[in-house]
Amino acid sequence: MARILITSAIPYINGIKHLGNLIGSQLPADLFARYQRGRGNEVMFLCATDEHGTPAELAAAKAGKPVAEYCAEMHEVQADIAKRFGLSFDHFGRSSSPQNHKLTQHFAGKLAEAGLIREVTEKQVYSNADGRFLPDRYIEGTCPNCGYEKARGDQCENCTKQLDPTDLIDPRSAISGSTDLEVRETKHLYLRQSAMKDQLDAWIDSKTDWPVLTTSIAKKWLHDGDGLQDRGITRDLDWGIPVKKGDADWPGMEGKVFYVWFDAPIEYIACAKEWADAHGKPDTEWERWWRTDKGADDVRYVQFMGKDNVPFHTLSFPATILGSGEPWKLVDHLKSFNYLNYDGGQFSTSQGRGVFMDQALDILPADYWRWWLLSHAPESSDSEFTWENFQQSVNKDLADVLGNFVSRITKFCRSKFGEEVPAGGAYGEREQALIEELTKRIRAYEAHMEAMEVRKSAQELRAIWVAGNEYLQAAAPWSTFKEEPEQAAAQVRLGLNLIRLYAVLSAPFIPETSARMLSAMNTLDTSWPEDVDAALSALPAGHAFTVPDVLFAKITDEQREDWQTRFAGVRS
Ligand SMILES: [Zn+2]
Repeated sequence: MARILITSAIPYINGIKHLGNLIGSQLPADLFARYQRGRGNEVMFLCATDEHGTPAELAAAKAGKPVAEYCAEMHEVQADIAKRFGLSFDHFGRSSSPQNHKLTQHFAGKLAEAGLIREVTEKQVYSNADGRFLPDRYIEGTCPNCGYEKARGDQCENCTKQLDPTDLIDPRSAISGSTDLEVRETKHLYLRQSAMKDQLDAWIDSKTDWPVLTTSIAKKWLHDGDGLQDRGITRDLDWGIPVKKGDADWPGMEGKVFYVWFDAPIEYIACAKEWADAHGKPDTEWERWWRTDKGADDVRYVQFMGKDNVPFHTLSFPATILGSGEPWKLVDHLKSFNYLNYDGGQFSTSQGRGVFMDQALDILPADYWRWWLLSHAPESSDSEFTWENFQQSVNKDLADVLGNFVSRITKFCRSKFGEEVPAGGAYGEREQALIEELTKRIRAYEAHMEAMEVRKSAQELRAIWVAGNEYLQAAAPWSTFKEEPEQAAAQVRLGLNLIRLYAVLSAPFIPETSARMLSAMNTLDTSWPEDVDAALSALPAGHAFTVPDVLFAKITDEQREDWQTRFAGVRS
């Protein structure tokens, strides 16, 4: 039995995510986790909410709530939606947890001991009216280059010129609009990533099985221009993890917190401790996933993320881990995704464009979305959600192919043999040919799943469903029944067993439907079809079943048009 640690990029706390976010990391990570569990492997699947930073503070202020309360509420909202989408995390943690506070402070202490942290005094804009330092992007003013009046302190979005806040004409706080700003000196800690360049370079070189796209992104950051830059790990904010050196205070850093980019990935690890603590397990239980000196040597660690997160996961987080000098588990494989676009444009959280996770579940069950999103995952390039394509995919793949198969065979059996697996007859040449085809396709499906080729896996699964339909069409037990009822019984027995087989194979994609299929077949047997022949005899003659309700309702043109209109506008 293999042991597989899986993390999904952690979603930011300030709102409900859209379907593009979902397919960018959490959903494919869930597919992989469910598949590995289905194969009998030991899996630890972790995700969390990313809760620190200025955007969380601003979202809380907008909602009129203290930031801690806002984050606690939004965490519950996100956890509930994740659950309803069938995301099977072993734990859905919080980067603001006490466990992450302690671990982040621990890492900072270790990095300081290793001489990898330096103090830098810098000048930063302070807003007297807001009573706080302002991050560059929260200062607005007129662009000195093009005259655009709403340029941000880091960049003018009109002419794209990179700016310093001090370049802006008539600068003001983007939070309060106040112009009562001044430049103050403040001290921050920097992680000396530049000092770790060679170590990171060697580590990336050892990853010969990574996609070239991934390693080339990392190499670019390591070598382009002046090479890998040192990076600030602290901020002058209230909301965050207080800067400490392990358990000890950090002189000169009072009142400051760690920068969100530093503490967020450490939550991947802290989340495992949250899991152990929540279940009353000792530390050894989570450490065997994360500490190579405590049992994690044989763990395979896979991360799922959007492409924009690759530099971060190949360099910044490894710098923290390697720099600590402690035996923490490093990532073995990264699976990254391109973007999903929405109906001729982009999904936009700020403009409320596209379908958000809660809205999606309001109109259809999770499996409809899971199937479309996974079978159209933006792997080799960006992909696009259109309502026409969604309707077509649901109606054909789910309703016509899988749903129709289950409905036909169970209803036919009930009408001719009653609600139990019929006895009599034997599997012949046609059945043998089907078993051979299924064996070939299931082995291909396994290979694609193992390689995290999401689209290819979906195509293969669909082909497996189609094979059953084609068999049923050719065998035609409704005709056979008139002349050779024994033969029809064998065909129906095979068909009913195929339903169980399909439920097992399809569970990673459509878990809720899979559970309904197993329940209709009145079985708890979810064993993987290592031997397809044997798997097609799992339900013996005389085994009782029930005819399930329609598995998938077709999407009508009227519904499609209604949704198209409803989601084109702005989310209120
Ligand atoms: Zn400009």
